[in-house]
Amino acid sequence: MGQSQGKRDSWQAIEHYRSTLASLAHYRRWSNAGVAALGSAIFLISWCYRDPADVFIAWGYPVFGAIFAGLAWWTLRGRSRLVLIDRVLVGLAAVIILGRLAWHYLVGDPLGANLMPLVGGHYWAVGLLIVGSFLLLGFQGGAIVGGLSLGLSVLLASSVVVPCIDVDSTRCDNVVYLARIHLFLLVFVVLSSTAVLLRDRTRDVVAKLGVLEEVARTDHLSGLSNRRAGEAFLATQFELNRRYGHPLSVILIDLDNFKRINDAYGHPAGDSVIVALADMLRREARDVDMAVRWGGDEFLVICPETGREDALRTAARFHSLITADCLGGFDVTATLGVAELQWGDRPEDLIQRVDEQLYRGKEAGRNTVRLGGDRGDAVAESSQSAP
Ligand code: GH3
Ligand code: MG
Repeated sequence: MGQSQGKRDSWQAIEHYRSTLASLAHYRRWSNAGVAALGSAIFLISWCYRDPADVFIAWGYPVFGAIFAGLAWWTLRGRSRLVLIDRVLVGLAAVIILGRLAWHYLVGDPLGANLMPLVGGHYWAVGLLIVGSFLLLGFQGGAIVGGLSLGLSVLLASSVVVPCIDVDSTRCDNVVYLARIHLFLLVFVVLSSTAVLLRDRTRDVVAKLGVLEEVARTDHLSGLSNRRAGEAFLATQFELNRRYGHPLSVILIDLDNFKRINDAYGHPAGDSVIVALADMLRREARDVDMAVRWGGDEFLVICPETGREDALRTAARFHSLITADCLGGFDVTATLGVAELQWGDRPEDLIQRVDEQLYRGKEAGRNTVRLGGDRGDAVAESSQSAP
């Protein structure tokens, strides 16, 4: 029962997220294999309907088609890491797309009237390469492949087309046309890099924030919520009490003569008692309750929806468990105070009243459970006289 249920829930959540990650990786594998298979189909179709004079397609595309089909099969086999598959996929695509572009410019007819219609239609593949490299390789990989692709494309175009102006001034139109295309490609680079950078950084910050928030509300020794988190929870429960009139009680637990354990057996021995008490509270407190390490050897259990009698019974049960169990290997006792939030109370009034009960318990000889409130004080039956 109690917060062990919370622990179980955490493990279930971890299992759930692990299996979600596995399904996402599976999905990504199928998507990569699909892209490679589509690539293979594109090469095959282009080869079937090729211009007979185009040597690049005649000899290159069957090879590329086979490579991409092999890549699809390799991806689906599932033995290689997806990061490696992503790199191979983008690398191959880059070599082929840029190779084809270079072919048009360098091997084809650079001065021919057909140059622009031929290369122009090819630039959407360069755009796809830029966006795909950012999506699959992330910011750094995308900047290398996408940036290099754009740079190489500019270099190729300007090295071939600009000198042509000297030969034929009407080719100025080609320069404007290619300048526009490359500006579009630059937009692709800027948009994809910004989107991927923001996505990765946001993910990073959210993950770090989650860890920091967890650290900020957890007591490092006991693993229970710390005082700051306890006060925040108390404030929320206080608001619920004010608005809906739900009962709210708190139990304050303080180990008796704890200093003696530290003095006699050392600080680590004292620590093991604190950890054992925290474990017991985590195990035994209800899911809706919050066990807090309030400070030193003091623990506060905040019990929403709990009236004074129920809180007293719960405190008596904690008290019995503390005295019955050997916490950290030591026979320890504890004094517990119990208080219920009353009309007109602020959270600090509730804490002050439970503290008073604890103090009275200590004054009365320790090893006791005391309840205070406007309906009179009470002492739990489990209370024993101090040894
Ligand atoms: P009392 O019955 O009056 O509560 O006596 P006590 O000796 O328990 O005194 P008190 O609660 O005032 O002091 C708590 C002691 O707990 C003081 C400090 O040495 C010790 N302590 C506080 N935090 C830790 C901790 O993290 N580890 C260990 N080992 N000891 C701690
Ligand atoms: Mg103490």
